[in-house]
Amino acid sequence: MVIELIQGDITTLAVDAIVNAANSSLLGGGGVDGAIHAAGGSEILEACKQIKGGCPVGGAVITTAGKLNAKKVIHTVGPQWGKEDNEEEKLANCYINCLKLARKHDLHRIAFPNISTGVYHFPKEKAAEIAIKSVKKHIKPGQEVFFVCFDDENYRIYKRELQAHTDQA
Ligand code: ADP
Repeated sequence: MVIELIQGDITTLAVDAIVNAANSSLLGGGGVDGAIHAAGGSEILEACKQIKGGCPVGGAVITTAGKLNAKKVIHTVGPQWGKEDNEEEKLANCYINCLKLARKHDLHRIAFPNISTGVYHFPKEKAAEIAIKSVKKHIKPGQEVFFVCFDDENYRIYKRELQAHTDQA
């Protein structure tokens, strides 16, 4: 089991699965979602359109990765801060359900963006704590998880949180 921190653009990674912070319609958006669709090409959107009913908050669905270097994209829908109940549990479910789906498809190396911390405004510190705790609890032998931070603030928070977890271990 490996957990690593990376700063940069998730779309460039040659991992088994890139996680997308999508919205429930799965029909594309801004932020990391826009970047994944732009880099991966229209094949990803076509595959998303086939998933009838979209994806609920906290859920996860899988598609081709199109032109990306990854094998698959796992789309998950984070909670919008202040807009719904049980945001913390729903955010944890995003990480847990992505790990489960990856395992089901034999995908071992999984890259996560900082789900919900962009336009969904989940407080970054709290989101990082939930992400790290959920992954540590649910990662299975053979799985490798990469937390990919795009902005400096998230990178600093994750670095500190991961260090704190290592010190506790
Ligand atoms: P959400 O709607 O779940 O908040 P956003 O895409 O707005 O999703 O933001 C989620 C996180 O993704 C933010 O922390 C943002 O900095 C980050 N992000 C944006 N573009 C990229 C990218 N190309 N690679 C990795 N992370 C990204």
